[in-house]
Amino acid sequence: MQRSKVRLLDDQVINQIAAGEVIERPASVVKELVENSLDAGSTSIEISVVDGGTRLIAIQDDGSGMTRDDALLCLERHATSKIRAIHDIEDIHSLGFRGEALAAICAVSRVTLATRVESEPGGTRVVVNGGTIQEVEEAGVPAGTRIEVRNLFFNVPARRKFLRSSATELAHVRQVVLIHALGHPTIGFRFTSDDRLIYELPGGASREERVGALFSPELVRALLLVEYRDVEITVHGFVGTPQTSRADRAEQVIFINGRPARAPLISYALRESYQGTLPKGRHPVALLFLEVDPAQIDVNVHPAKKEVRFRRSQQVRDGLLRALQSALTKNTSEQFSPRMTPVGEAGTTLDFPPRAEPLMPIRDLPLLEPFPYPNRSTYPEGQGAEILPLGTSGKGEERDESVSPWAWCRILGQIGGLYVVMETDGGMVLMDPQAAHERVLYEGLIALTDTRAGISQGLLVPETVALPPLAAQRVRSGLEVLETMGFGLSEFGSD
Ligand code: ADP
Ligand code: MG
Repeated sequence: MQRSKVRLLDDQVINQIAAGEVIERPASVVKELVENSLDAGSTSIEISVVDGGTRLIAIQDDGSGMTRDDALLCLERHATSKIRAIHDIEDIHSLGFRGEALAAICAVSRVTLATRVESEPGGTRVVVNGGTIQEVEEAGVPAGTRIEVRNLFFNVPARRKFLRSSATELAHVRQVVLIHALGHPTIGFRFTSDDRLIYELPGGASREERVGALFSPELVRALLLVEYRDVEITVHGFVGTPQTSRADRAEQVIFINGRPARAPLISYALRESYQGTLPKGRHPVALLFLEVDPAQIDVNVHPAKKEVRFRRSQQVRDGLLRALQSALTKNTSEQFSPRMTPVGEAGTTLDFPPRAEPLMPIRDLPLLEPFPYPNRSTYPEGQGAEILPLGTSGKGEERDESVSPWAWCRILGQIGGLYVVMETDGGMVLMDPQAAHERVLYEGLIALTDTRAGISQGLLVPETVALPPLAAQRVRSGLEVLETMGFGLSEFGSD
């Protein structure tokens, strides 16, 4: 007789498999533990990591703490104090509810949990190794909870292999801390990495103060206030001006009822609101706090609870669009008024010179300077009807197509302080001066890396640039290339 092949997996294997969905890297551990500390009503949370969290992640909070029984039970899969029945998910006010995180973390690392409820004299220390409880003892510990997670994925080599360098893992951890610190300005956060202090954020802060403490002054200056409320949704927060767009979405942080989350609908609304003002492939900065009736959202879409679905998505989307639109128009009208520089005398309607007007042959014209305008809104007026060539040597009879796509062009004016409208031999062209300027610089720099001919001159006073953690890490990993281009960069502070 053939022996049966189907077998029930033992708990440890089940937990390790399940852990893969919740715990991907050190940053996911930090996210889950910080969320637990927040759910426990902490007012101050201390986080420290060693080697980007791959060696050690330690979190200390001053929240509710746990009794000995709870401390043991919370390590089990599906053990939670946050819901009891399935309908509780419809009115969820905590960040956690699946009761999976601690079990998952314990299954793939070595965990020490030390906790005490304030009203009790003694606390509990539990040591877990790869999901197996090894020690439980009474311990004199501060009220609150301290969790230490060592050697993440020590028993899951396949996962450990996917971890990146400590620096990259650290950048992800920092992003998580930054997001939670942003979402909870009243809570104090302290974050150290390899004994280096990275964030020291006092509690009791306002949202504005927290944004100021977390982001560079340049970014803060470029933020527009969003304030909106209707029956369906309340939207608070900040969005960047179109001039502060980014190449990725690292600085798009959205909270839905206090939970950092993504929703396709929100990405759509952001894209829609900035349409026409952002170049292709650029993303606006957005730090948005949405509040909706918890019954109107589904947070149980993803094990890591990263995605939220709205039941009345149409209404939410409309509200969000109105919120963004009003922030953008209100503020842009103060910053740069949409206008078209008239070609003729001020006050007259557009008065195009007759087509037959002789155009200067391109070789007699001076070279067009790269646009020296750091900010589109300062593009000078009054160039109307001036004919400018587009960078040629002016020597040969043959026009070099690789340098200029047109034989001639004429600047007609500028729209909204952004696009320059040009008439060319072939028709009409809209140009974004800032993008064009960046492109000119970019081409120049790429040419330097090819020839390895970067020439540099030291600045009298070095320029300090603050970047978001992931961008800083990208620069860090590209230092060598930047050196070739002639940039001397050194790290100062953390980012
Ligand atoms: P969930 O957060 O989804 O409930 P977890 O596995 O993250 O699941 O945590 C299990 C339980 O452990 C929580 O419901 C909570 O009761 C308790 N717990 C976890 N972390 C803390 C903490 N820092 N302080 C107090 N209680 C905690
Ligand atoms: Mg949790």
